[in-house]
Amino acid sequence: MVMGVRDLTEFESWPFAETGSPRALDPPVDVEPPRHGEGGEDCTPCARADDDYLWVDDDWRLTLFEPSPFLGVVLLEPRAHVESIAQLPADLAAGFGPMVGRVQRAITSLGGIGNVHVNCWGDGGAHLHVWFYPRPYGQLQLRGTFLPVWGFALPDRPVEQTLAAGRRIADALRGQPDR
Ligand SMILES: [Zn+2]
Repeated sequence: MVMGVRDLTEFESWPFAETGSPRALDPPVDVEPPRHGEGGEDCTPCARADDDYLWVDDDWRLTLFEPSPFLGVVLLEPRAHVESIAQLPADLAAGFGPMVGRVQRAITSLGGIGNVHVNCWGDGGAHLHVWFYPRPYGQLQLRGTFLPVWGFALPDRPVEQTLAAGRRIADALRGQPDR
């Protein structure tokens, strides 16, 4: 155990049976490399057709993430090229909270969901994308920060199940009025 490093196996939510040796932290770079699609140049989401999305409206588009061990992992993006929540123009910013709530409710309607985590990292792709991670009800070890890490560690669900869950989320969004 490296001095000052916590034994993460003490966390009920730690996904691994043993703790590996933490890597040494590299010194910070002076200038970070550009993220994918920065400034809208060669931006994959901007170039994607609506047909590639699970659900769309005039302002927002929703992607189903698969494969995954969890049903209903989706990403919400603004249709316009905006690079952070902080940069959302006023009209989109006003609609963002209600839209996040709508997506959470649509995912929850799948049933068997304990919580729907909302994450916005944005270190890879520049086009704003907000992750929704449903935690299966009763899976207490999956609570909190490590849920996405469990997502890498657990076996993926069969793709048909994931696609079916995605269709149900899209149906729920179509049937759900704005609040
Ligand atoms: Zn873009």
